[in-house]
Amino acid sequence: MTRSDEPYSREQLEAWDDAHVWHPFTPQSAYRDDNPLLVAEGDGNYLVTADGRRYLDGVGSLWCNLFGHRRKEIDAAISAQLKKIAHATLLGNASVPAVVLARRLVEIAPEGLTRVFFSDDGSTANEVALKISYQYWRQADGGRQKGRTKFLALTNAYHGDTVGAVSVGGMETFHTRFADLLFDVERAPSPYCYRCPLGKERTTCAVDCLAELERVVAEHGDELAAVVLEPGMQGAAGMIPYPDGFLRRAAEAVRKAGALLILDEVAMGMGRSGEMFVSAREGVTPDFLLIAKGITGGYLPLAATLTTDRIHEAFLGRPEEGRTFFHGHTYTGNALGAAAAIATLDIFEKDRVFDALPEKIERLRTRLETLRDLPAVGDIRQYGLAAGVEIVADRTLKTPFRASERMGMRVCNLAKERGVFLRPLSDVIVMMPPLSITLEEIDTLVAAIEHGIRGIGCR
Ligand code: PMP
Repeated sequence: MTRSDEPYSREQLEAWDDAHVWHPFTPQSAYRDDNPLLVAEGDGNYLVTADGRRYLDGVGSLWCNLFGHRRKEIDAAISAQLKKIAHATLLGNASVPAVVLARRLVEIAPEGLTRVFFSDDGSTANEVALKISYQYWRQADGGRQKGRTKFLALTNAYHGDTVGAVSVGGMETFHTRFADLLFDVERAPSPYCYRCPLGKERTTCAVDCLAELERVVAEHGDELAAVVLEPGMQGAAGMIPYPDGFLRRAAEAVRKAGALLILDEVAMGMGRSGEMFVSAREGVTPDFLLIAKGITGGYLPLAATLTTDRIHEAFLGRPEEGRTFFHGHTYTGNALGAAAAIATLDIFEKDRVFDALPEKIERLRTRLETLRDLPAVGDIRQYGLAAGVEIVADRTLKTPFRASERMGMRVCNLAKERGVFLRPLSDVIVMMPPLSITLEEIDTLVAAIEHGIRGIGCR
């Protein structure tokens, strides 16, 4: 039997990794060729490998780390909670940190979002919102609107990997092979200006994609249970920001149609935009606000689906009336995760994080501008402290590289030579660093990307 306390060699661990671990979103046969990091420790904004190399965590450990690794306040909050209890169910019970966290989230969320349903990750936060909104229409208003059974989402949307979340997701690669398993969803076009799905030009269009969304919402108005959007940016699609005013007008259209609005802030919430939530920043109050990833500072899996009294009330009644929401996960509202999340919210206040962000966001913007003249750089997109650089084979024609060339991955592998860890979305080089990244580290991050882009032979 393999002992748990052995200091295993890197070679041994890599051999077991190759033999046993099935990596998510990873072509397993190319895994080792991509020179993966075997992370043993974290140190602030850096990952430290088993052989002692240090890498700036340029994607915040998949978009969730906010204040660096081994942040002492979060470590301490988890240790203190461990001395009390690690987990107790929220099914029919409460636990102290989950209650406190619910209260804290309601205090910072857009007004009117007063009810918190906890789950484990971004996908389940979406499932919860989809299922609550579906059930809501069967129960609200004496069931008079129970014909509202459909959802509308954007092409290129990404909401997670469970079957409901994939159904509302609109990325071909993740969708096609599961198509028969998924429910039908109405679609409106993605605001992907660089490759406009409507064939328009960013400088002259009248945001026709939004007009199309308004049209589809109006057309299916009384069948729609809810409309699901990722505010700020369509993240996994390749860091696609919305044109100004898109969210507000989309929200108005949804309201006019009487449908519910689900805003998935899993990636862009928790400070990434420069404010706590994109919805508040854009002046839109949804019926559901979904938070995950950064909610625990990137420490533990925890998510929250926030909703309103109006929605919650439709689930009230005598137990035998069957209005209960029959959904919940074993670790829902986990006490360690909730303690980490409370400590994370405290850091936002104590460190005055929002005072420091504008300068970092601007620094990222100006540094990224210096990449614009590289021949492989097709487009540079940024929203808050999140950005993507789309690289192309021919930038006049916007011709993509062949998929087999795996250019995005090659750029990221070259960035490792400069001590920066990145993970691309196809040929979009993604930046989602911890909010605690320094100005100098932003320079390092962008310089490593430049090194990578030059290194693939596009000087
Ligand atoms: N929604 C959005 C907007 C996301 O970016 C992601 C993950 N990248 C998810 C949902 C799914 O979250 P998780 O991977 O935690 O299930």
